Amino acid sequence: MSELDIVEAMQSRYTQVMARVADAARRSGRKPQDVLVLAVSKLQSVEKIRAVYSAGIRAFGESYVEEALPKIETLNDLSEARWEMVGHVQSRKAKLVANAFSRIHSLGTLKLARLLDRHREPGNGPLDVLMQVNLSGEDSKQGIVATKRETWQDILAIAQELKAYPNLRLTGLMTMPPLFDDPEHNRPYFRQLRELRDYLNEQDPSLNLTELSMGTSYDFEIAVEEGATIVRLGSILLGERQY
Ligand SMILES: *Cc1c(COP(=O)(O)O)cnc(C)c1O
Repeated sequence: MSELDIVEAMQSRYTQVMARVADAARRSGRKPQDVLVLAVSKLQSVEKIRAVYSAGIRAFGESYVEEALPKIETLNDLSEARWEMVGHVQSRKAKLVANAFSRIHSLGTLKLARLLDRHREPGNGPLDVLMQVNLSGEDSKQGIVATKRETWQDILAIAQELKAYPNLRLTGLMTMPPLFDDPEHNRPYFRQLRELRDYLNEQDPSLNLTELSMGTSYDFEIAVEEGATIVRLGSILLGERQY
């Protein structure tokens, strides 16, 4: 594809996706602007990333530290671009991640929290983090396991411990539900994430958790209907990934 074709293709994908997000928001009595569309740009070319940026996207999600860091550097002329880490972060990579990203969606252990807090330069302001929770219990999923309501107290304790880290700011929760044939089957998981956030805020209003990062290309409309404030969209916005 020529550069112009890429720009046109991305513009058209962007327009369609934003319309679907807006419709889903209105269906559930919410405002379209209350949902952030995060373009998950892992394994996508810089040409496509530039094209969705010019279409209007400002927040980009990456999954692999080694791939992301040079890409962020290459694209540093996109002055309003924000980079967010949505993939698993190994402890030994915490130092690399702590200052390159503006938000981490995948905080799953207090150990990682400690390392991110230690390496975040205070001059960059606190690093926004979301606690990743595993609501299905699948072994393949990262995150703090919260399959039963009895475990919610443990999540509360972790959220409260995070308050002790001056260079981190916990603002909400993230989840990756199982992959079903029918995205409607993910609705209960999205609802549970919202209920867990509401529970945490009720138990400790000072937590003041606002964000729900949930929904991907295949189920984002259902996630928005259930209260998503961030949808993480890869292939639907940017096309197939190049592995
Ligand atoms: C890759 C990825 C996405 C985007 O997936 P699509 O199906 O391409 O929309 C969203 N969230 C996470 C955590 C991912 O790793």
